[in-house]
Amino acid sequence: HARQSTHGIFLPHLVASLEQVEQTYVMVKPDGVQRGLVGEIISRFERKGFKLTGLKLFQCPKELAEEHYKDLKAKAFYPSLIDYITSGPVVCMAWEGVGVVASARKLIGSTDPLQAEPGTIRGDLAVQTGRNVIHGSDSPENGKRETALWFKEGELCEWTPVQAPWLRE
Ligand code: ADP
Repeated sequence: HARQSTHGIFLPHLVASLEQVEQTYVMVKPDGVQRGLVGEIISRFERKGFKLTGLKLFQCPKELAEEHYKDLKAKAFYPSLIDYITSGPVVCMAWEGVGVVASARKLIGSTDPLQAEPGTIRGDLAVQTGRNVIHGSDSPENGKRETALWFKEGELCEWTPVQAPWLRE
């Protein structure tokens, strides 16, 4: 999109350098919580350098699980997926940063943990698609939608980490 300065002057050289800050919704699923992987998983995103803007332990009601996974309603595994996600507490996280959506998906790895690369969360910590320990939004649009779905207003924090100038020039 073309952007204008406050004086209405078009600055094309600035347009190219403006990088979009994205939001993504990441969730440790009930198996990750039960297996004691919460700290390990949060730590991977922290160490990467993304900014945490929301965090809570939460028992997901059935209606919310159904809304979150509504695109998969026709799948044979949908009922067991809803049972799985509501079977115990999840850890909800909102992360922010330039390129965070695609990068989080890379850190998470392929849906099937047996296909996921070593070094990824699923590649290192899981063995089956039906117990793949973590969710991450698949597009910037879904990142916004899912963050708004799982967090109420007032549950997200706007802050500036002290390390910010050491992460991006
Ligand atoms: P991802 O979570 O990697 O974005 P999908 O959007 O395709 O993957 O699926 C959402 C979730 O549904 C998966 O993470 C997994 O928990 C579950 N799921 C997907 N495919 C299957 C399957 N074949 N059997 C059981 N569960 C599945």
